[in-house]
Amino acid sequence: MNKKIDVNNLSQQYPLIKELQNLNYVFWANPKKQQSQPQSNALSMAMVYDAEARLKRFSSYIKEVYPITRISDGIIDSDVKEIEAMKKLIEGRRGLTIPGKLMLKCDHSLPVAGSIKARGGIYEVLTYAEKLAISHGLLTEQDDYAKLHDESFRNFFRQYKIAVGSTGNLGLSIGIISAQLGFQVTVHMSADAKRWKKALLRKKGVEVIEYDSDYSEAVAAGRAQAARDSMCHFVDDENSKELFLGYAVAAVRLQKQLQQAKVSVDAEHPLFVYLPCGVGGGPGGVAYGLKQIYGDDVHIFFGEPMQSPCMLLGMMTGLHDEISVADIGLTNVTEADGLAVGRASKFVGTVMEPVISGCYTVDDSFLFRSLKAMYEQENIFMEPSAHAGVYGPIELINRGMDYIRSNGLEDKLDNAVHLVWSTGGDLVPHELRQHYLQTEI
Ligand SMILES: *Cc1c(COP(=O)(O)O)cnc(C)c1O
Repeated sequence: MNKKIDVNNLSQQYPLIKELQNLNYVFWANPKKQQSQPQSNALSMAMVYDAEARLKRFSSYIKEVYPITRISDGIIDSDVKEIEAMKKLIEGRRGLTIPGKLMLKCDHSLPVAGSIKARGGIYEVLTYAEKLAISHGLLTEQDDYAKLHDESFRNFFRQYKIAVGSTGNLGLSIGIISAQLGFQVTVHMSADAKRWKKALLRKKGVEVIEYDSDYSEAVAAGRAQAARDSMCHFVDDENSKELFLGYAVAAVRLQKQLQQAKVSVDAEHPLFVYLPCGVGGGPGGVAYGLKQIYGDDVHIFFGEPMQSPCMLLGMMTGLHDEISVADIGLTNVTEADGLAVGRASKFVGTVMEPVISGCYTVDDSFLFRSLKAMYEQENIFMEPSAHAGVYGPIELINRGMDYIRSNGLEDKLDNAVHLVWSTGGDLVPHELRQHYLQTEI
């Protein structure tokens, strides 16, 4: 971790480092991408389907404790929709054409936790709860899981603890579901975490510990707490397979949604997906599932703030978590709090090597212009982090044409779907929304 980084040497090998340091827009095409995901024992599509089945088992419980999920039968998921007015606005402002359709995956409106963290975070806590209950003979997979709402189960789970380190949204999702089940839960929050997120958690009975330092140290503190206590489960945002699988289930569900919407994805109809990236687990899990399903027909890009391009830096240099954005002189300070991560997950970066098409950077001022435009054009509110995805199609047209040509996609672009993965926003309080809508930087 603390190996000395020879930045001069690295910059010669990877000239894009200079561009990152100069805070220019950077588009990095991944040279290790393959046509399909190589099979491995560590992760498989069978595990993703297994995760989907687990969420199904829990659906009667979720429906019981979160009545808002009744319309989806206790399944926590979001819509996909075309955003034509936003597309027109971008094209008009930028004087470019985005060939094909522009669509939005609305994870900003995921019920219960209001961000993509509702996928991985809730899944991991449910997995832990199920394991405990089954191993103590209190539950079988054939039971109606609505019974977990009984006071006896809450008393049982109260003996156990859950800890997590977070910039905000993961803490929200873990805190909300853990407190609901009855666990004692501690969220270690980094300095950039927003005040309203801490307040909301405390209101739900979650212990929030605040740090002056950044995300990586909040995670380290959580890990240390759990290591001292055998009754404490640590949700490891940097390494957790459960989180990753919970996110990956999104791909299976998206495939069905696109089929229902009669959107084709095949060799003649490429699917481009743009995901905001922090430590990597959320976008990585989704990307993993999509690549398994669509192979060479899906082209996945991760967007990161100019001051926090940790995944781009880690994957490009192959150093993953051995290099941080501070090593090249960046601050890791951004209004996109969900993406304020200086060091990417090595687990995710390694899995992503054959999978993603590339990464790009975006500046904070775009995030706020996009936030306002999306609200005015589509009446959709997404938090700043989520707008890192919106920049993807613009970046592809501006700086990604080599990628298009070398993948033989020029004459297929008119059939393309550009899917922007909106990652958060629904829980942002009214006053802060107003503030964001008026922010110009
Ligand atoms: C956490 C988060 C992301 C990125 O997910 P990672 O797993 O950290 O890469 C993107 N957008 C929002 C709103 C988030 O909260």
